[in-house]
Amino acid sequence: MKLRPHHALCVQKFTGHGYDENFTRHMTETVQVLKEHPDEKVDIISGCDDLCAHCPNNENGACTTLQKVAEMDRAVLSSTGLRIGEAVAWGRLAALARETVFETAEFEAVCKNCEWYALCKNTNI
Ligand code: SF4
Ligand code: SF4
Repeated sequence: MKLRPHHALCVQKFTGHGYDENFTRHMTETVQVLKEHPDEKVDIISGCDDLCAHCPNNENGACTTLQKVAEMDRAVLSSTGLRIGEAVAWGRLAALARETVFETAEFEAVCKNCEWYALCKNTNI
């Protein structure tokens, strides 16, 4: 599976809300697969990933909110110490995101400009 860095956060905070029906259905399936398979290999990539592929904000392979999401991706790379091109088991990636973002002030710093922040802030994982 290919994920852009900040989606290591979104997958863990997902509660069934998404941009449209197609996106939400695919996201639900992906979250379920990763929950059941913590050893699933995740390739950390830049740009649109397996979740973006089903998103209405993906226009010809580029996110329409690229500036915002690119900043979040950079922040997650900085917090976790991960690099683009790295392959990591989902369980380790999720734990790294929890320890370095959700459990620190980085959560607000990374996510505060996201439209889902209020929801994610109140979602326990
Ligand atoms: S606030 Fe936005 S970027 Fe942060 S975890 Fe939630 S959906 Fe993802
Ligand atoms: S909003 Fe952008 S980064 Fe987020 S899933 Fe859609 S295309 Fe991908």
